Amino acid sequence: MKKSLALLAAIVCFAACKKEITPLELPVSSFIEPIEIPRVEFGFTFNDFDVVQDTIRKGDSFGQLLFNNNLSYSEIANITAAVKDSFDLRKLDLNPYTILKSKDSLNKPQVFIYQPNRIDYVVVDFRDTIVAQRKSKPVTIVKNTASGVINSTLSETIEEQGLSYNIANDLSSIYAWTIDFFKLQKGDRFKIVYTEKYIDDTTYVGIDQIKSSYFEHNNKPFYAFQFVADTINNIPDYFDEEAKTLRKAFLKAPLKFSTRISSRFTRRRFHPVQRRWKAHKGTDYAAQRGTPIISTANGTVTKSGYTRGNGNYVKIRHNATYSTQYLHMSKRKSKVGEFVKQGEVIGYVGSTGLASGPHVCYRFWKNGRQVDPYKQKLPEAKPMDPNMVPVYLEFIKNPKRELDNISFQETNL
Ligand SMILES: [Zn+2]
Repeated sequence: MKKSLALLAAIVCFAACKKEITPLELPVSSFIEPIEIPRVEFGFTFNDFDVVQDTIRKGDSFGQLLFNNNLSYSEIANITAAVKDSFDLRKLDLNPYTILKSKDSLNKPQVFIYQPNRIDYVVVDFRDTIVAQRKSKPVTIVKNTASGVINSTLSETIEEQGLSYNIANDLSSIYAWTIDFFKLQKGDRFKIVYTEKYIDDTTYVGIDQIKSSYFEHNNKPFYAFQFVADTINNIPDYFDEEAKTLRKAFLKAPLKFSTRISSRFTRRRFHPVQRRWKAHKGTDYAAQRGTPIISTANGTVTKSGYTRGNGNYVKIRHNATYSTQYLHMSKRKSKVGEFVKQGEVIGYVGSTGLASGPHVCYRFWKNGRQVDPYKQKLPEAKPMDPNMVPVYLEFIKNPKRELDNISFQETNL
C-alpha cells in the first residue's frame, strides 16, 4: 500500500512540476496531455506493449492463443520446442495469461506469461533468443491476530468474522490430537497469531501459518506454539506451554472438523436399516458424500474391500495392539499392503453396505477387541528432545505474552 501511494504521489508531483515549468503563454489545452502511469508487472513495463490479458478457457491451447494473436504455426512450433525442457507449453491449465505484443504495425506477440497460481508465473520471452523462466512475485508476510467465541461450529465462527476458511482448517489440524472438534461447546473460545501472505504489497493471497494459538475447550486452556524442535529435518511443529507435543499416535476423528457424530459406540442401539436393537461397536460420523476419510494413525492397510454390511471399507493395522476400520465408503483410495500416514486420505464418505445415509463408521480395535477409542488412554507421539526444552521455553515467552494480551472477539448476531 505504502509503496503504491508513494508512487502515485511521485506521479502527481511530477505532473504538477511539469505544469509549473511550462511557459505560461501556451494555451491551456496543451497541458491536457494524458499522464501515462507506468504499469510494471512481471518485470515488464506494460506501456511499451499491446497487452492481451485473459484466462485460459477449456479448449484453448498455447498454439491457438498465439495464432489468434498473429503468430504463425511454424513460429509457435519453434517456441514450444525451444522451451520444452524448462516448461511444457502444451500443458496449460485454466489459469490467467498475458501476451505482450509489439506496438508496431506488425503487432506480433513477444512475451507470453502464464500464472499457474497467484504467486508463481512463467515468462516465455521470444523477442530474441527463446527462453522460459519460472519466477515468483515477491511475497510479503504480515503478522495478524484473531479471536472468537464459538456459537455453533469453529468454521462458522471463523467465517462470521470474515476470516479465511484456512484458519479453521489449520487450527483444527493443530489441535487434531487434543481437542475433539465434533464435541465443541458453546462458549469455547480461541485466540490466534498468524501470518498472511501478500503480493504486490496489497494483494492478499492467503494464510501463511498459525504461529501460536490458544484454545479454551470446556474451560480448559490449550496453548500451541510453532517451533522447530527437529533441527535435522527442520520441520516446524506445535507444542504446548510445557513443551509437550500436541501430537498423539491417533487423531481424534477420521474426518476433518466440519461434520457431526450421528451415533456413538454403544452396546445397544436401534439399527436404522435392520430396524432392530443391536450393539454399535463404532462411532458414526455423518458427512457429505465424497468427504475425504483420513487414517487416524500411521499404519499398513490390511483390508480394502466390499461386504454387504460394511460396503466399501478399509482396515488399517497400526501396531501389534491397535487397528482401525472405516466403513460405508463411496470409494476406496488405498490398497492392501499400502503404508498410510496419519491424516492421509484413504477413501471417501458414502453409504454403501448397510447405511441409511452418507457417513463413515469408525471402528477401533485394541488387542483384537472392538473398543470405544474415546474411552481409551491412547499413546503419545515422540516427545521433544530434552536438550531443546529450555530453548523452547525461552522462545515462547514473547509469543505467550502476545497471545495472552489478545482480547476475545464476541460475534454479535
Ligand atoms: Zn456405525
